[in-house]
Amino acid sequence: MIRVGIGHDTHRLVEGRPLILGGVRIDHPRGLMGHSDADVVLHAVADALLGAAALGDIGELFPDTDPQWRGLDGGVLLTEVMARVTQAGWKVGNCDVVIHAQEPKLTPHKPAIRAGLAQWLGVPLTSVNVKAKTGEHVGPIGRGEAISAEVIVLLQAAGDL
Ligand code: MG
Repeated sequence: MIRVGIGHDTHRLVEGRPLILGGVRIDHPRGLMGHSDADVVLHAVADALLGAAALGDIGELFPDTDPQWRGLDGGVLLTEVMARVTQAGWKVGNCDVVIHAQEPKLTPHKPAIRAGLAQWLGVPLTSVNVKAKTGEHVGPIGRGEAISAEVIVLLQAAGDL
């Protein structure tokens, strides 16, 4: 038995914040604003997992109105989501990620993001793909006002569900 899930996230790019994408801290003058660490990649991966397992979304599990989640590390969030997905009887088949960012250039960072995701998801490197797109200088992404991520995940039943 297999299931697919989709995840999306967008955060505003602002001065005075670190830029963390897929758990990788990227040297850049601006970073993503949010109640948590605003890691759009890990947030979108977590939502794709929850979607495939029909377990809701990260807004329900980690409400941004709750002070205990202030500054929440995307890796901690994804680890918690993976625990729930595993508990529900699923393992990850593969994961495909698109990051939309006009800046910075993400090509040098894609291998580290991919390796981290493979580890979090408990799959080989060959089951994770990371793509980066610019916004072609149009829209909020293209003007460098935001970065977003889209993710599709395939889950497979780990045994009898
Ligand atoms: Mg988010």
